[in-house]
Amino acid sequence: MQYQSTRGSAPTLGFEDVTLAGLASDGGLYIPESWPAFTPDQIRALAGLSYVETAVRVMAPFVAGSLSEEELRELCTAAYGRFSHGAVTPLVQLDHQHWLLELFHGPTLAFKDVALQLLGQLFERFLSRRDDHLTIVGATSGDTGSAAIDAVAGRAKIDIFMLHPDGRVSDVQRRQMTTVRAPNVYNIAIDGSFDEAQALVKAMFNDAAFSRRFNLSAVNSINWARLMAQVVYYFYAAVRLGAPERQVAFSVPTGNFGDVFAGYVAAKMGLPVAKLIVATNVNDILHRALSEGDYSQGQVVATATPSMDIQVSSNFERLLFDAGGRDGLALADQMRGFEASRAMRLTNAQREGAAHLFGSARIDADGMTMAMRWAYDGAGQIVDPHSAIGLAAAREAALDPSIPVVTLATAHPAKFRDAVERATGTRPPLPARVGDLFAREESYAKLPGTFDAVTAYVAERATPRA
Ligand SMILES: *Cc1c(COP(=O)(O)O)cnc(C)c1O
Repeated sequence: MQYQSTRGSAPTLGFEDVTLAGLASDGGLYIPESWPAFTPDQIRALAGLSYVETAVRVMAPFVAGSLSEEELRELCTAAYGRFSHGAVTPLVQLDHQHWLLELFHGPTLAFKDVALQLLGQLFERFLSRRDDHLTIVGATSGDTGSAAIDAVAGRAKIDIFMLHPDGRVSDVQRRQMTTVRAPNVYNIAIDGSFDEAQALVKAMFNDAAFSRRFNLSAVNSINWARLMAQVVYYFYAAVRLGAPERQVAFSVPTGNFGDVFAGYVAAKMGLPVAKLIVATNVNDILHRALSEGDYSQGQVVATATPSMDIQVSSNFERLLFDAGGRDGLALADQMRGFEASRAMRLTNAQREGAAHLFGSARIDADGMTMAMRWAYDGAGQIVDPHSAIGLAAAREAALDPSIPVVTLATAHPAKFRDAVERATGTRPPLPARVGDLFAREESYAKLPGTFDAVTAYVAERATPRA
């Protein structure tokens, strides 16, 4: 499989290079040159397979040329063996039409584990082939940091430096990062906001000499391998609900548009997806883009669903490219316009290409609370605030009752205990596997939010390239 950039002027690359590169050299995102197609018989044959076997079948075409089926199986077995549920991503029924797909049984209790556990395995495999070394640098407001750290802790050939804004992540989130004791993990509390931490990371990448010397790499959701790993659970869930004979709809709590784009890929591959509902909180740029064609950046408002407090969704570019007719140079122009004015209109082709499959909804705090109560009162299920946004959008969509609607449950409710308690009166306990989180010793550096302080810290500890 070869991959092309959404902006039309970077070289096409194979899967291994795309995984290690992250962003394309022209500023675009990598996407397969064509979508692999599954016949109804091939989808039928997924019935009854384990998660790992489903993952091998669904991902094999994407890694062709870089990994054998046996190697892929080995990496998936290692990645998903760390999940605490035998089904890896179990389905839970809420009523005659609505289901939850629980994506939070990984080591850090958020759906990002599904992709990052595999990415950690892929990095290690590819780096040892090349005898190369990577330095991952990131800024986190919570979930991505802990999932990335867990995925690479203790791995040879990778160091990870994770910046978080001091005092501005929850205790659970901070401890999930700072209690990981491995010689290649460095946590840094920055005196400043998340945006300032993010700006420091960008500045390090923009320093070409520094970036080359330490082979800097990012793990955010623009990495194609992360999206690929997320395609699997759409197949896994839909097959259990009757695909390919029956259509299934999905509602996806959305921030960077990575998770829901994986659903689009599944549909392109032949999975009978009736609808993909993009659920946003009041930071609703995607809802405005999909319903009115208006992609214009607003001010980010802090909500009870911090992982969705986003006003620019990096993966949306992949949809604009594919649905809009795959004209990379035209899209590069359009994106340059957006970067200059922070606003753009979708083209007619982009709107029509998306309209077939996507619906969207903007859910405010009341809608979120009502969905949490509905799941708790009707089915005894405690859902986290992000999943509740998805559930509210799923119910609002009022689809034909013959179509099962699966809401992706993206975080364990215990990660957001205060918000859950406010809505339902019940405080979810931390699951046993992280139960001693508050007894473990923390270790992290506190640094001023200056470029010099952070780069000096990294340069002293990271492994320079040979
Ligand atoms: C990251 C995240 C999301 C948003 O996913 P995207 O792929 O960025 O759209 C939703 N919920 C939770 C809990 C997350 O951590």
